[in-house]
Amino acid sequence: MNFIVVTIFPEMLNPFWEHGIVRRAIQQNKICVSALNLRDFTEDRHRTTDDRPYGGGCGMVLKPEPLAGAIRAAKKLAPAAKTVLLSPQGRVFDQGMAREFSFFEGLVLVCGRYEGMDERICNDFIDFEISIGDYILTGGELAAMVIMDAVTRLIPGTLGGVDSAQMDSFSSGLLEHAHYTRPRNFEGAEVPEVLLSGNHKEIEKWRFETSLIRSFLKRPDLFKKKPLSRQEIDTLKKWCRDIEEIIHAQSLRGPDALSGGQ
Ligand code: SAM
Repeated sequence: MNFIVVTIFPEMLNPFWEHGIVRRAIQQNKICVSALNLRDFTEDRHRTTDDRPYGGGCGMVLKPEPLAGAIRAAKKLAPAAKTVLLSPQGRVFDQGMAREFSFFEGLVLVCGRYEGMDERICNDFIDFEISIGDYILTGGELAAMVIMDAVTRLIPGTLGGVDSAQMDSFSSGLLEHAHYTRPRNFEGAEVPEVLLSGNHKEIEKWRFETSLIRSFLKRPDLFKKKPLSRQEIDTLKKWCRDIEEIIHAQSLRGPDALSGGQ
């Protein structure tokens, strides 16, 4: 995977490329990274990358010529790469998109600044317009890093454990199960007994159920998108029956129980 970032602040990328899994992926030639400085594609003495908006109004707009020059240069370096514009107006990035992008040979990540960029670049030079969420950043560099990070960890061999990425939240459409590590007792809070049992079948069942319950409690919206497996439906149905039984048992205790004992 070849990542090329088009930016007016290429130095922002260095700390990101020098740490953790991304750094290791570079060292192992799993990914190749570079930044093109927009100023290198300007033709005036002041290396101007932005100008005032036509029609008036506040803020500046990135000029089309340096952007076009930089994107063309990037495509020469990586002809099969897809061009991604970072923009709060784009499709909101998610794990499915990260997976889709991980199959590409390269990504040219075009970072806006100021009020954004000339619309003709957005129309004619871009394959995907991507947002990382419904908020406004000052520039696209952080968004580019988010995409590179999420995509890199899906490239086979970049993570230590073979299954790590497949187990992550959202990979199955739900949130991942809970995790614990040493010590066994932390300030009075114990690790669930089942995780210490050595019974792998029971541990799998516990993980499956904690994934399901925390998805339901924290992100019930996920259930609208995900086709549930037979096992997931059966577990939800069982919980439903258990909840009904609890409510029924309470109702037998009289109206006070159901009105919260008030
Ligand atoms: N005026 C623009 C608008 O309202 O749509 C916002 C421009 S923003 C201040 C400057 C640049 O930051 C954008 O061109 C884009 O590259 C980047 N950016 C800001 N928010 C973003 C987000 N949520 N996702 C991806 N990129 C973002």
